Amino acid sequence: MSDILYMVLPCYNEEEVLPETSRQLKEKYQTLISSGKISSKSRIVFVNDGSKDKTWSIIQELHEKDPMFSGVNLSRNRGHQNALLAGLMEAKNCADMVISMDADLQDDIGVIDAMVDEYYKGHDVVYGARSARDKDTWFKRTTAEGFYKLTNAMGGEVVFNHADCRLMSKRALEGLAMYKEVNLFLRGIVPMIGYPSTIVTYERNERFAGESKYPLKKMLAFAMEGITSLSTKPIRYVTTGGILFCFIAFAMMIYSLVTYLTGNATSSGWSSLIISLWFVGGVQMIALGVIGEYVGKIYMEAKERPRFIVERFLNDTEYDAK
Ligand code: UDP
Ligand code: MG
Repeated sequence: MSDILYMVLPCYNEEEVLPETSRQLKEKYQTLISSGKISSKSRIVFVNDGSKDKTWSIIQELHEKDPMFSGVNLSRNRGHQNALLAGLMEAKNCADMVISMDADLQDDIGVIDAMVDEYYKGHDVVYGARSARDKDTWFKRTTAEGFYKLTNAMGGEVVFNHADCRLMSKRALEGLAMYKEVNLFLRGIVPMIGYPSTIVTYERNERFAGESKYPLKKMLAFAMEGITSLSTKPIRYVTTGGILFCFIAFAMMIYSLVTYLTGNATSSGWSSLIISLWFVGGVQMIALGVIGEYVGKIYMEAKERPRFIVERFLNDTEYDAK
């Protein structure tokens, strides 16, 4: 018996691409099913994220004509991450593995085979990473790659050049469901779940039709969201900055003392003023950092993340769970 594969594709105003996307995916599914790689109970789930165009009626039509297509309709637009999570949470109850992908065919659907292969090799999470970005504009490429580097530097663990094209097994999705946070940044949370994982690369295509729903403004907001929702490391930087300021104050003290003693100080009071300026600044920053550490702790506690996820419990004793 082969396993059940669900695909989840969030859609926001994607009427232009849906007919083509569904056609290509269906073709892929048919070959996968006939070669016995995936069960015939596998489905393709489109999540309508409060689109203003005909997206939902197209999804309904697809479902009526072919049970291979399913649809989830959100009550209103909630953004890509939430739409994706909604689809994943619906799919995890019916599937053994779930692949998420954008609806615009920018992710190469050929990667599905590679992901399913890795799944059967025992990987619970398979990240799809872009091998090259030469089809993106220079601007998009630079900003996007800068985003991964910045997020990692700020303490968020993200897989380089991996967006939201990934395969997750049922138990990995159950792990994901334990993360109750509202500020959702999926690509940073998935690595936290653990379990065996691997990366497959694919080439990123141009958008098949329609426009990107991620203009620069949204991308910057997304990066900010990613960093602040994943880690409290920026707070550490404030403390470090404070300590640095105190060091500068110390250096200034020596410098101004020397100037004073050699009689080069231009006006009286300059030395004490310049030392206290740096010193008070430094002390204030350290104090802010200390307060920030506690705020950060409260923040992390409020997320109620699971402290651990047990992969396996080797134990033969049977007991009554009464
Ligand atoms: N999307 C969504 N809700 C939104 C914005 C986008 O579900 O509010 C979907 C969109 O339909 C697409 C995916 O998220 O399937 C990625 O969006 P897009 O292709 O515009 O982003 P880009 O590839 O340019 O980063
Ligand atoms: Mg896209």
